[in-house]
Amino acid sequence: MKGVGEKLAELLAKAEIRTLWDLLFLLPRSYEDRRKFYDYAAIEEAALTGDTVYSRGVIEKWAVQRMGPGGRARLEASVRLLGPDAKAEDVEIATVFSPRVHFVFFQAFGGHWNKSFPEGTTVFFRGKAQGFRGRLQIAHPDILDSRAEAPEWEKGIFAPIYREIQGVSTKALRKILFHALDLPPARRLPDILPRALTERLGLPPLAVSLRELHFPKHWDPSATELRPGGACFRRVVFEELFLMSLALHLRRSEWRVVQDRAADRVPAIAFRPAWLDEAEAKLPFRLTGDQRRGLEDIAHDLSCARERIPMHRLLQGDVGAGKTIVAFLSALAVMDAGYQVALMAPTEILANQHFANFARLFPERAHEAILLKGALTAKTKREVREKLERGESRFVIGTQALLTDTTVFEKLAFVIIDEQHRFGVEQRLGLKHQATGLTPHLLVMTATPIPRSLALTLYGDLSVSLVKEKPPGRIPIRTHVVKRRAFDALVHRLGQFLEEGRQIYLVYPLVEESEELDLKDVKTAFDEWRARFPATPIGLLHGRMKAAEKDKAMRAFSAGETRILVATTVIEVGVDVPNASVIVIEHAERFGLSQLHQLRGRVGRGAKESFCVLLSSDNPSESVRERLGVMENSEDGFYIAEKDLEIRGPGEFLGRRQSGLPGFRVAHILRDLNVLEVARREARAILDEDPRLERLENRPLRRMIEKWWGGRMELTLSG
Ligand code: ADP
Ligand code: MG
Repeated sequence: MKGVGEKLAELLAKAEIRTLWDLLFLLPRSYEDRRKFYDYAAIEEAALTGDTVYSRGVIEKWAVQRMGPGGRARLEASVRLLGPDAKAEDVEIATVFSPRVHFVFFQAFGGHWNKSFPEGTTVFFRGKAQGFRGRLQIAHPDILDSRAEAPEWEKGIFAPIYREIQGVSTKALRKILFHALDLPPARRLPDILPRALTERLGLPPLAVSLRELHFPKHWDPSATELRPGGACFRRVVFEELFLMSLALHLRRSEWRVVQDRAADRVPAIAFRPAWLDEAEAKLPFRLTGDQRRGLEDIAHDLSCARERIPMHRLLQGDVGAGKTIVAFLSALAVMDAGYQVALMAPTEILANQHFANFARLFPERAHEAILLKGALTAKTKREVREKLERGESRFVIGTQALLTDTTVFEKLAFVIIDEQHRFGVEQRLGLKHQATGLTPHLLVMTATPIPRSLALTLYGDLSVSLVKEKPPGRIPIRTHVVKRRAFDALVHRLGQFLEEGRQIYLVYPLVEESEELDLKDVKTAFDEWRARFPATPIGLLHGRMKAAEKDKAMRAFSAGETRILVATTVIEVGVDVPNASVIVIEHAERFGLSQLHQLRGRVGRGAKESFCVLLSSDNPSESVRERLGVMENSEDGFYIAEKDLEIRGPGEFLGRRQSGLPGFRVAHILRDLNVLEVARREARAILDEDPRLERLENRPLRRMIEKWWGGRMELTLSG
C-alpha cells in the first residue's frame, strides 16, 4: 500500500494487521466529536479530566522560553479563542477581548510552527488541555490552518480514534485507513450477504458500512451521545454473528449425517430410585440442592433415551460451585450400567487433578479409571487406548486433544466436557470411532456465564442445569485492592499467612518479559520470592514448562510440599487446592474482570476464610479503580461479567478484541445478543432452504465460512 513502508508494515503486523481486510476491520474505538467547539469554560473543565479539546483561535504571539540558565528551550504561543461562528471581522475584536490559552512545544526550538502559523493567523487546534501556573495550556497541539486546508482524513466532524498500536498514532492510522478505503479492492468489497436478506433487514452494503464507521458522514446529528448504534454498525456485527451461526449449524448437520449412519442406538441408563441417596452416603459431604437437582436432570435425560435423542446438557455453575462431583456421580451411574465414560478437561493439570480426586473420593472404583495424557510414552498411550477399545477401562480422563481423533471405545455412552470454553468440540469427538455404534450422551460443564441464547447458538438444542448454590460453610472471600507502595506491608502479611499454615498463589500475567509492557517476569519474581522467604518451599508454574514439570509443580503444591506457588494464568481454570487460601494477583489491572473472577475462584475452597489481593499501580485510572472495585464488592460471576461489559462502555465500543470469543472482530456476545438472535434465526432459515449453501447466491457465504471459521472453531473461548 502506498504510504505504508516496511517499518510501518512491521508495526502493524505486530498488532495482527497484515492484510487490507485486517486493516478495514480495525474499527475505531470511539470518535472525536468536532461538532463541539470548546469555549474557555469547556477547556477549563476538560483540563480537569484530561480530555482532548477542539477549538479555534488567533495566534497572538510566539515566544521562546528558557527554563533557567542553560535550561531547555521551549516554544510557546499565546492564543486568543474565537467562537466557531466568528467571522473575519470578529478576529480583531477577539484579539482584544477573548480569553487566552497557551500552546507549548518542548524541545522544539527552531521548529517550524512559528513559521507555518505566523502571528495573526486563525487556526483550528486540538490537544489535551491542562492547567499550569494559573493558565490553560496545551502541550504539542495539532494545529490546522483551517478546516479547508486540513488533509481529507481530518476534515470529518467525527474523527476516528483507534486502539493503541505501538508506534502508530491515531493520526497516522486515519491517513492509512483513508487511503485503504479508497483502494479498488476496498471499494469493490464484495457483499457476501444475500441481497434479499440485507434488504429485508435494512442493512447497508459492507463497503458503505465500513467507510461510514471509519469516517462517519451521516451521523444522526440529534444524537447527544456518540455511540454507533446505527445500521452500519449493525451490519458489521450481523455479518459476523450470521457467519458464525451458519458455521455452527453446518458443523452440526455434518455431524448428524455421520451420526445417522453410524449410530443406531442411544444408550438408556437405568437408575434405581434411591441411587442418589446411596451415592451421597459415600461422600464426605452432603450434596447441595442444586447439585442434587443437576443430577436428577441428568438421570432423567439418561434414562429416557427412547426417542433416540441423546442428552445434550449444559451444567453451568460459578467457580467453586462443585460441578465435578456431579460429573463423577453421573459417570459412576453410567459405568454401573456397563458402559464407558470419557471426561475431557482443557488442560493436563486439570485432567490429572480430576483423576486424583476420583481416586481419592472413590478408592474402591479407582481401578476402573484411567488417565490419558500427553506426557505418557507412546507405548503407554497405546496400551491405554487398547484398554479402551477392549472395554477394560470404563472411565477415561484426559485432555480434549487426546480424546478426539485416534481413540476408539468399546461402548462409550457418556461424554463429559469440563470447563467448556471451546466450540464445536462435541462434533470432533470419537463418535466415528465407536465399535458398537452408540451415540453418547453429552454433558458440558462451564463456569463462563453464557447467556441462554448464546448457549443455544453454540451448543444447539441443549438443556441447562444451573448450580448456583455454593457448598455450605463457604466463607466469603475477602478481596482487597492493594497499591504497589504498600508492597512491603503485603510481604509482611504474607509471612504471617505462611506461619498460620496457609498456602499462597502468586499470579503473574506473563511468562517472559514483554517488550512493550514493563511487567515482571514470572521467573524473576520466583527468584525474588525465594529470596524473601528463604525458609519456605516455593513452586513455579507457567505455560512454557513441559507437561511433566507442570504436573510435578502442581502435585507438590497440592500435597502441601510447596507453600507458595508462583504461577501464570495456567491455574486459572479449575485447579482445586482447598488449603490454598490466599491469592495475590500482580498487575491486576491487566486482567479482565471475568478472568480475575476465575483466578480468585482458586481460593475460598476450604474451611478457612480466604483472601484475594489485587495488586495495582499507585495511581490507577478511574476505570481500573471501578473494575477492581467490582471485584471487592462481588463474588457473583454473572454480575461481574455484566459489569465488565458495562464499564468497558461506549468509549471502547468498537473494534476491540474483547468479545471473549475467538474470531470476532466486532461482535460482542453479551452486548450484541439481540443481533445474535436475528442472525441465528436467519441462518437457520437459509439452511432450511439450502442445507449445504450450494446455491449460487449462497456460495460466497460458504467460502467465507470455510476461510474464516474453518480453523477457528477450536480456539479457546475465554482465554
Ligand atoms: P467447580 O464447580 O469450580 O468445578 P469443584 O467441583 O472443583 O468446583 O468443587 C470445589 C470444591 O468444593 C471441591 O474441593 C469439592 O470437593 C468441594 N465440594 C463440592 N461439592 C461440595 C459439597 N456439596 N459440600 C462441600 N464441599 C463440596
Ligand atoms: Mg471445575
